[in-house]
Amino acid sequence: MSTLRQDPTTRQWVILAPLRSDRPHEPPAAHRPEVPSFDALCPFCPGNEDQTPPEILREPADGPWQVRVVPNLYAALSGGGSIARSGASPFREMRGVGSHEVVIESPLHDARLDTMTQDQVGRVIDVWRRRCRDLLALPHIRAVVVFKNFGPLAGTSLVHPHSQVVGTPVFLPRLLRRLDVATRYYDENGICVYDDVIAAERSAGARVVDECGKFLAFEPFAAASPFETWIAPTFHQGSFHDLADEDVGDLACVLIRTLDALRRTCGDPDFNLVVYSAPTNGHEIVFHWHMKIIPRLSTQAGFEMGSAMSINTVPPEIAAAALRNTLAATAGNGKQRVGGNRRPEKRGAPTRNRARPRNESVTD
Ligand SMILES: [Zn+2]
Repeated sequence: MSTLRQDPTTRQWVILAPLRSDRPHEPPAAHRPEVPSFDALCPFCPGNEDQTPPEILREPADGPWQVRVVPNLYAALSGGGSIARSGASPFREMRGVGSHEVVIESPLHDARLDTMTQDQVGRVIDVWRRRCRDLLALPHIRAVVVFKNFGPLAGTSLVHPHSQVVGTPVFLPRLLRRLDVATRYYDENGICVYDDVIAAERSAGARVVDECGKFLAFEPFAAASPFETWIAPTFHQGSFHDLADEDVGDLACVLIRTLDALRRTCGDPDFNLVVYSAPTNGHEIVFHWHMKIIPRLSTQAGFEMGSAMSINTVPPEIAAAALRNTLAATAGNGKQRVGGNRRPEKRGAPTRNRARPRNESVTD
């Protein structure tokens, strides 16, 4: 029998239906081709800097770059100016001001977050938070989204490791809903809902994946899709851009370990990573920034579109246990080398605790 669970941070319901994974079709296992560490035709590879728009930021500032930020050549939003609405009621529109940036995460064409050194992932995180700070200071920017699309099923075909930062001239509906739920929870209970959730997850332990310093990786109680994983600070912090220098290393550590565990457990899935953060003054008390990683192991279909309710075939307790076992097995084999530049296993290689779910969406 299936179970419905409500996400306390969004009040959205999710259907946990483990039996649906028995349906007889596997999700397509996308082939991850071997790539070289340098590709002369790649606009993000060193030596091809003139193929991108002029650079916004580089790290380090002098010498060969390790991380670069450039405007997206095909920007969804760009430029500054008025954010006034125009058009006669009921049809409103506005100019597409804002920013759309690409964070080139490494000079190496074949690098991946889960095999980079902790220092290098720390540089990427540092650049994300600096771009958030700078963009939110602009008068026409209302919110900033940091995200990463990894692999074709997640929406990218560019191999060179990169993420994106988008500054929008309007508040984001999805974030507004979270801020609203968090505000009401704070008013009713006098505490941040995420603080309550994180404390409860830590003490229960069944959905915890990993903990590095002050950061927890866990599967949320009402995970909307198989192996949906959250990373959040265990102390209260509303805005991602307020992340302190001394905490960047621990966040890099838990991010690397979590992505590594997902790769080894789920067969190197494509994934999306999104950072949710309080955008403006006043929400830092009620909101709590967190990262959400969604492996692309399933497809949203008609029921999800019609209901905004997901069906998840892998209970988060099962997913968390599989990820913990992978991390423990890796540590036991002496292979656990955060910051050691490990090479990724090829997709399809046998993995421990393989728990790759079948396609669960309501397609038929
Ligand atoms: Zn490249």
